[in-house]
Amino acid sequence: MLTAQDWIHIFAEISKAVESAKDQLNELDGAIGDGDHGVSMSVGYRAVREALSQLGENPTLDRVFITAGQAFLSASGGAIGPLMGTIWADSGKALAGSDHFGPVECVRMMETMEKAVVRRGKAKAGDKTMLDALQPAVVAAQEARDQDLVTILEKAAEAAELGARDTAAMIARVGRSSRLGERTLGHPDAGATSIALTLRTICEVVSRVRREERKAL
Ligand code: ADP
Ligand code: MG
Repeated sequence: MLTAQDWIHIFAEISKAVESAKDQLNELDGAIGDGDHGVSMSVGYRAVREALSQLGENPTLDRVFITAGQAFLSASGGAIGPLMGTIWADSGKALAGSDHFGPVECVRMMETMEKAVVRRGKAKAGDKTMLDALQPAVVAAQEARDQDLVTILEKAAEAAELGARDTAAMIARVGRSSRLGERTLGHPDAGATSIALTLRTICEVVSRVRREERKAL
């Protein structure tokens, strides 16, 4: 089970992963959009880190997520600001009253993330957006719901990576890149790639924490 403090650490690690992938995300977005996706993600997660560092002692789990969502939303522009902001803020609301984050909370969080994107962005599966990484990840998490947290996260991350890769075969139907229509074929979607990166980072941090806990026993 993860605590609110563990999640502050996870958000810091997502921020680091985004910094490392910033150029790659800009390039992906540059091929079929305006090339700012890496920057927007970086600005958003830097604000998340800053806001979380200012939370007082022992914040609740829902407060950590809601703070992250609000910080991302206010700092980052473009389509991704409201989308990623809503993903985390809605997840926080869905986690209200939970002290710890385990398999049940993980599946609930993933389902909420998907609903948040659909509510905000009105995209459908196959429209070549972040939803095409998120939706298969949610299905994988639901299928693994009776397993341990690391397994659920591993399956979700893997499904998101495959989903992001498969967006290359899709024609963009919503968002800025939809203006290019068929010219978007052959290019993976930047936002889907970011979702895969986010879920992979969460999975890696949690499995590292688990290994260290076992060593300490
Ligand atoms: P902008 O398009 O405003 O420059 P970004 O470049 O930061 O914003 O983010 C682009 C990504 O946002 C896309 O790759 C796509 O995954 C996602 N996106 C854009 N519009 C939508 C939408 N309506 N629903 C879901 N995701 C979307
Ligand atoms: Mg862009």
